[in-house]
Amino acid sequence: MYRSHSCGELRESDINKTVTLAGWVQKSRDKGFMVWVDLRDRYGVTQLIFDEERTSTEIIEKAKSLGREFVIQVTGEVIERVSKNDKIPTGGIEVLVSELTILNESKLPPFTIENDTDGGEDIRMKYRYLDIRRNPVKDSLVFRHKVTMEVRKYLSEKSFIEIETPYLIKSTPEGARDFVVPSRMNEGQFYALPQSPQTFKQLLMVGGMDKYFQIVKCFRDEDLRADRQPEFTQIDCEMTFVEQEDILNTFEGLTRHLLKEINGVEVDKFPRMLYDDAMRLYGNDKPDIRFGMQFGEMNEVAKHKDFNVFNQAELVVGIAVPGGNAYTRKQIDNLIKWVKRPQIGALGMVYCRVNEDGSFKSSVDKFYDQDDLTKWAEVTGAKPGDLICVLSGETNKVRAQLSALRMHLAEELGLRKPDEFAPLWVVDFPLLELDEETGHYHAMHHPFTSPKPGQLELLDSKPGEVKANAYDLVLNGNEIGGGSIRIHDKETQQIMLKHLGFSDEEAKAQFGFLMDAFEYGAPPHGGIAFGLDRLVAILAGQETIRDFIAFPKNNSGRDVMIDAPAPLDEEQLKELNIKLDM
Ligand code: ASP
Repeated sequence: MYRSHSCGELRESDINKTVTLAGWVQKSRDKGFMVWVDLRDRYGVTQLIFDEERTSTEIIEKAKSLGREFVIQVTGEVIERVSKNDKIPTGGIEVLVSELTILNESKLPPFTIENDTDGGEDIRMKYRYLDIRRNPVKDSLVFRHKVTMEVRKYLSEKSFIEIETPYLIKSTPEGARDFVVPSRMNEGQFYALPQSPQTFKQLLMVGGMDKYFQIVKCFRDEDLRADRQPEFTQIDCEMTFVEQEDILNTFEGLTRHLLKEINGVEVDKFPRMLYDDAMRLYGNDKPDIRFGMQFGEMNEVAKHKDFNVFNQAELVVGIAVPGGNAYTRKQIDNLIKWVKRPQIGALGMVYCRVNEDGSFKSSVDKFYDQDDLTKWAEVTGAKPGDLICVLSGETNKVRAQLSALRMHLAEELGLRKPDEFAPLWVVDFPLLELDEETGHYHAMHHPFTSPKPGQLELLDSKPGEVKANAYDLVLNGNEIGGGSIRIHDKETQQIMLKHLGFSDEEAKAQFGFLMDAFEYGAPPHGGIAFGLDRLVAILAGQETIRDFIAFPKNNSGRDVMIDAPAPLDEEQLKELNIKLDM
């Protein structure tokens, strides 16, 4: 038996017991006649004491030789601690050691394995197994486990069944590139790793499984952003005989359950917002509604004077920054610099101070008088003491820019409180999205999403205006889930694929299996998928998903610990019939 108790378990009620513990040496203090060791495992830290009067010299000497992260086993008596530590649950006791076995030695770790560490991101990723010994990382993984357990519990109780779908498949278009795997047995042929189990979960509905879920890895070869991982986990779900309303209610239930069980927060019915309204009021399809600062569209109140910048713009739009009149000239200049950075791309920013007495002072006083500015305040909802920030330009661009500014200001003003949860359904997404570069439309959600009833006819004339039965669940300005009611008949699916630029042959080659299945009594169905990594991070009140993934990849998509990706050797390439032209 390696241990009788864990290192987080012993209390004052255990005093006088003889116990055996095993764990890692977090640190030791050597006072000559006495040695203390903090022994750590996943459950906590227990203080060990070795003292000349009560411990044999041989053991004391051994204790003095212990280095950080040595793995040891000790047996001893639980005694009351002289100076108690009320910061840890085991702080009332210590273990007076009578037997000590070194199970394994350790090299000096490259960074300190404590809550606060001196190790930078890179070194911690290279030695991730050491990083995992630290509470912040360990606790995040335990937290993730709790969330997934609650998901499984809730969905199972609602008759959902977890079913695994294959990883070696054919392309499932979710808007990214596929990771591919060469097939040795089928020369020149490749599997694609699933961007999501989309087609398989639909086939499970055709198969009559009725309610499916899966906590599943998905793979997308995209340009990486700070909070993206090439492989990530979804809570993937699908239901039969449902309308959008049923899906929203079911998964609002799941989210409410998680907020209650994990965060102890009760949330009212989730508000719903049309996609068009989200874009108009927040410039964004995933608005953070924990704070106001809604957009005020200003074309009517700003385009009647000689100010050409506004007159030439497709959209003039502003926000009121609460208390923003307190900003100094320098602070405002910095905001202007901020929106002009290439990442944001605004050409400039007009502003208007709203003084405490209700008068206005704008950066365009030459063009706009107090009456004009009063209207600006009405449109943006600005009150005395606020600052109105106004951007102008092409509608889509200027909305994105102002949305970025809104989030930046909210962050600065401390309006994005991590312990406040504001879920929101965004509904009625467009079916198609114009790719600015190619000029082609592609599916905004995915090609299996059904258009709203009666809208199919618009596909030819006004493709950009067709609305889909598609919805996103947004939490605190993050998209945590998205889904749709699906097409379930061959004809509509064919029309859809045609509009997305697939020839009949291509459609058949890539999705023939799905359309064939639709000919054998496919029931109406729909579903949703949650991004688990991000959901867990948000529930924990944090922004970076990497902390909640045991072995994440870095910003270049590399696993620096195992050093992947890596070249293959000649032999393996030959077996796979891959010739590298390098
Ligand atoms: N497969 C979709 C996605 O990964 C989710 C869904 O439509 O259920 O975003």
